[in-house]
Amino acid sequence: MTEPRRRAAVNVDVDGLYLYDRIHGHARSSGNTAEFSAAAHDPTAWTKGVTRFLDLFARCDVTGTFFVVAQDLAHPEVRAVLAECVAAGHEIASHSLTHPYTLSRLPDAAMAAELSNARKQLQDATGQSVSGFRAPGYVLSDALLRAIADAGHTYDSSRFPCPPYQLAKAAVIGLYRAHGRPSGSIPEWPNVWFGKRTPYVDRLADGRALVELPIATLPGTRLPYIGTSLIAIGALGYDAIAPLLARTDWLNFECHAIDLTDHVADGIPARLAVQPDQRVPLAKKWPLFVRALESLARHHEVRTLGHWAESPDRF
Ligand SMILES: [Zn+2]
Repeated sequence: MTEPRRRAAVNVDVDGLYLYDRIHGHARSSGNTAEFSAAAHDPTAWTKGVTRFLDLFARCDVTGTFFVVAQDLAHPEVRAVLAECVAAGHEIASHSLTHPYTLSRLPDAAMAAELSNARKQLQDATGQSVSGFRAPGYVLSDALLRAIADAGHTYDSSRFPCPPYQLAKAAVIGLYRAHGRPSGSIPEWPNVWFGKRTPYVDRLADGRALVELPIATLPGTRLPYIGTSLIAIGALGYDAIAPLLARTDWLNFECHAIDLTDHVADGIPARLAVQPDQRVPLAKKWPLFVRALESLARHHEVRTLGHWAESPDRF
């Protein structure tokens, strides 16, 4: 009897450089506002990052999902790359309208506007129904889950049940605060850290169903398996966990567009070298991602998140 194939998905959060400035509290600690408003329109995450992910997906023969911050569509270069994503058959999902890190705590009307405007703009731009959503910073709330369903989404992929990541994030936010440089980011509640690692149907308080497709963590240790951690562990670390990954039933491999940027060659502002993924040159990152995706495609059935969300009874 042949073993049923394990399920996997590969997806990319297209966070612009301006969002990293917000995480690290740069904009607030600098008097140079012109520099940061220019950064708000910098399409590097798309023109360098997303285009390389398109090459990677084509090379490894996988179809992926791009989580898009809808306000970025105002930029013509972004719209051109988005059209390439759609033409190549990849799924486009929503990463909100403006990526507020406090989305889960916004007043109801503001939250609803973020979600419904983003979904409408993405549908208008792609000509396709947009079924998926991922929250900025992976932070959810009951109100946000209701709003995701209200906006017409059928699945969410924001849960990141990863204690090491959540602990590190809370520590960094605390550290920035202690230094009088508040981060734009907020921590997630500890009860989520140990949540379910595999897909499930979330029953909302009003009885509606929303499919949840959690982001990958390793079995047992719950160490993160996302693009940023792949870059951090490098080729040797990947060799060590590859056998475990091959046996993992659900691998929702989440990347960020800047994972495949080159800090120097792509002219990324020096202040963002604070991001560990920016300190590794593309020449080292690219072969690592090729290996990771080729291995994923060998051991797993790789489909879009939208595909897996269509049949929740499989879980
Ligand atoms: Zn994001």
